[in-house]
Amino acid sequence: MKRFFFKSAKINEFRLWGLVFTMVGMGIMILGTAGILLWGQAGKIFAAIFMVLGMISLLVSVAVYFWAGMLSTSATMLTCPECNRQTKMLGTTDRCMFCRTMLTFDPSQANAHPAKQQQANT
Ligand SMILES: [Zn+2]
Repeated sequence: MKRFFFKSAKINEFRLWGLVFTMVGMGIMILGTAGILLWGQAGKIFAAIFMVLGMISLLVSVAVYFWAGMLSTSATMLTCPECNRQTKMLGTTDRCMFCRTMLTFDPSQANAHPAKQQQANT
């Protein structure tokens, strides 16, 4: 499954990106503030630019969180066959949020996972 950037559920992936943008935004803002301490008056321009960049990054993170929220409302709730916990699926193929088992509604992809194959035999 190459289309998964991280080996996790899509919703978790969105949350991770949201967190990344929040951290980056905060980091940039802190760096900008540090500029004032380092260069005084000249650092203020530097700080202002970094503040704007930080704000953009934070806005992106909010957008990502919002998007994840929108997607999760359209997600399919199901009980994972591996860990028996309630998980959410996006699209026809996704990973379990807890045990990261590949779950699919697509019959052509079903049982492609070696662990699933083994389970089917037992
Ligand atoms: Zn599971």
